Amino acid sequence: MNEFNTIIPSGYNNIVVLTGAGISAESGIKTFRASDGLWEQHRIEDVATPEGFAANPQQVYRFYNQRRQHLLGHQIKPNAAHIALAEFERSFKGHFLLVTQNIDNLHERAGSQNVLHMHGELLKSRCIQSGQLLETIRDIDDQSRCQCCNPAKGIRPHIVWFGEMPLFMQQIEQALSQADLFVSIGTSGNVYPAAGFAAQAGLFGATTLELNLDTSANQSVFDYSVQGRATELVPQFFNPHTFTEQKG
Ligand code: NAD
Repeated sequence: MNEFNTIIPSGYNNIVVLTGAGISAESGIKTFRASDGLWEQHRIEDVATPEGFAANPQQVYRFYNQRRQHLLGHQIKPNAAHIALAEFERSFKGHFLLVTQNIDNLHERAGSQNVLHMHGELLKSRCIQSGQLLETIRDIDDQSRCQCCNPAKGIRPHIVWFGEMPLFMQQIEQALSQADLFVSIGTSGNVYPAAGFAAQAGLFGATTLELNLDTSANQSVFDYSVQGRATELVPQFFNPHTFTEQKG
């Protein structure tokens, strides 16, 4: 279906939004599957699995160091889609949860408040022994040490790799069960469990909408599916002007 203009988000009380790499593409951060499953010219198995880390930790540290430095570069900024979500959240009177698969911090930089990073965060590292998190803006490697153990232990990127358990799953599943609107933005629908959220929310009665550049792998489970760029579709859908008119 393609009449998403008939859904007014302010008509709902409990909204869950899921974002993927596509929402940050127009900010200059490459998506995961942009070219044949390569992520910035690396095989996913090499840089996004525990096995890849065990086999060649230096390569994995270097890969995330490069992603982090790129994210911190002055040219990378939140785009109109990140900003529209943050503005909508500020003016919305109901419950709004933003679940992101992204490891960048562009939602926070745009002003989003209630954000769960289910696949971790580039600007954090984690003690391999205790799991304690450290804010990280500098490069790390196998010589980097935690600040929580004695003697200090090694740290790793705070990224959920393939084969590891995503974060905040209990909170997310509870929110999906209570949602009356679920919106997926810029995600290919290939990575589970996130790719299953639309069907889950739909089973609990939520209206489901996807906004994505291409046809996603799970398009058929959505009530509405609209193709286009996030910077055009998201401000159009999450429009605070429409919201104000509705509430007024
Ligand atoms: P994906 O790369 O599998 O899919 C991205 C989707 O975004 C595609 O379906 C594509 O059609 C769509 N897209 C591309 N440009 C778009 C645009 N301008 N507007 C709207 N849609 C657009 O990414 P995924 O589904 O998020 O899953 C991959 C994993 O990659 C995630 O787990 C995430 O952790 C990781 N990742 C994160 C980032 C980031 O933090 N920005 C970047 C790359 C990969």
